[in-house]
Amino acid sequence: MSVTGTESKPSPISGLGLFATRAFATGERIAPYNGVLLNSPPDVSTPGQPTYLLEISPGLWLDGSTPANPARHANHSCLPNSELILDTAVGHPWLVAFRPIAAHEEITFDYGFSLAESLFHPCKCGAKDCVGKIISSPLRPALRRHLRFSRRRD
Ligand SMILES: [Zn+2]
Repeated sequence: MSVTGTESKPSPISGLGLFATRAFATGERIAPYNGVLLNSPPDVSTPGQPTYLLEISPGLWLDGSTPANPARHANHSCLPNSELILDTAVGHPWLVAFRPIAAHEEITFDYGFSLAESLFHPCKCGAKDCVGKIISSPLRPALRRHLRFSRRRD
């Protein structure tokens, strides 16, 4: 299934990625992120598995694993070019460009993972400041402290 303006194909970050087939302007909707809304947190202990479970607002999770969600192939990046915004009028989120995106660019967003979730999900986004785990941007300094602390053994 394709979405106008995007296609899924192998990604240098992980598995299949979502790529722009045309340019997107800042603030433009890229693709809907379809799925099932959940009111309880998902099981985070599935190391290395692709994950489509996202906390889209406090206490509200979305399972986007359905094939009816082509946007599920969008990878996480520590330096993303889009963000997931909940459209409360329709009840599901959209990937929205937060900077201009060129045709053929891979579309990425911040999965917003917690510290606990991040420990099971390495990040291979390739960004200069990649923290090495998939974790919500505001939590990255705490993760860096956690990793430094955990390395100390003397
Ligand atoms: Zn990264």
